[in-house]
Amino acid sequence: MPHIIPVFINHAGCPHRCAFCDQHAINRQTGFSLSKVREQIAEGLKWRPGEAEKEIAFYGGSFTGLPEETQETLLTMAQNLRREGKINKIRLSTRPDYIDKKVVRRLLAYEVDLVEIGAQSLDDQVLALARRGHDAQSVVGAACLLHAAGLKIGLQLMIGLPGQTWHSIVATTEKVIEIKPEVVRIYPLLILAGTEFAAAWEKGLLAAFELESAVEEAAYIADKVSGHGIKVIRTGLHDDAGLREQGVLAGPYHPAFGELVAARRCRKAIEAVLAERGGEGEAVFSVPARCFSQAAGHKKSNLAYFKQRYPQITVTFEKTDCESIRLKEFRRE
Ligand code: SF4
Repeated sequence: MPHIIPVFINHAGCPHRCAFCDQHAINRQTGFSLSKVREQIAEGLKWRPGEAEKEIAFYGGSFTGLPEETQETLLTMAQNLRREGKINKIRLSTRPDYIDKKVVRRLLAYEVDLVEIGAQSLDDQVLALARRGHDAQSVVGAACLLHAAGLKIGLQLMIGLPGQTWHSIVATTEKVIEIKPEVVRIYPLLILAGTEFAAAWEKGLLAAFELESAVEEAAYIADKVSGHGIKVIRTGLHDDAGLREQGVLAGPYHPAFGELVAARRCRKAIEAVLAERGGEGEAVFSVPARCFSQAAGHKKSNLAYFKQRYPQITVTFEKTDCESIRLKEFRRE
């Protein structure tokens, strides 16, 4: 995994105000200036042991909505760093409706590797309720243009949005698989101070998304897309003290959200076997070392779940170098 050098451009380039978005709460910075960009790059370039590659990533706004001159200044900076061998890759994030052929030509000219598209959902009704200002077809069109030009793409998806039923989640996931981005991020909706959703929540017009539903939905999407070769690079926002203390009014904020989702995915894999097996006995699972603790669950929640749901089966794990969780043996008692 390359070391990401995040450069937050803070709402710059984005005249929109999606109903959930407060970029200032997300990245705790105000304003956008080239000197701040340089500071962030300098900090990110500090060598850390074990880092093979470095990737500069412009986040926090709609990059391709910036004035062309600013885009070119930032991309020139990044391109020069790459030519000097200080970084290896360039990525940026933007809105789908800010991508057209001219934009793609510019991204190619500056050797951008990956574009993360803020899709959030591929359900037009959900997008409209979130005041996104674009539809699902806009995401499909942007992805096609980028892929046709040989650029890699990422899709940022949000769960817990108003109007987002389970059916909508399933349909969006299927469309994501059709688009086939290289990577996906999944964020749960948090009610952030100062947003339109915060005003609705304060008036009792919007219920906060529950942690349990968020974990379940994120695990579902992650499992499905991973099964089609799409890498899930993040579930949940970064643990950030400022976000917790100042910005989040409600919603499934959890500092270990990604771990909860990973543990739920393990639970689903194990449960699929247990449900099929039935009977009494001990189920011994081979578990890859990288997800050994996740198999037991956060605070051993998976073990407690299996015990309660399948009281006739004792579940045990053995750490192995296998690729995925699999049943090693089932000892009948
Ligand atoms: S397009 Fe992105 S940066 Fe702009 S308001 Fe919406 S979520 Fe925020």
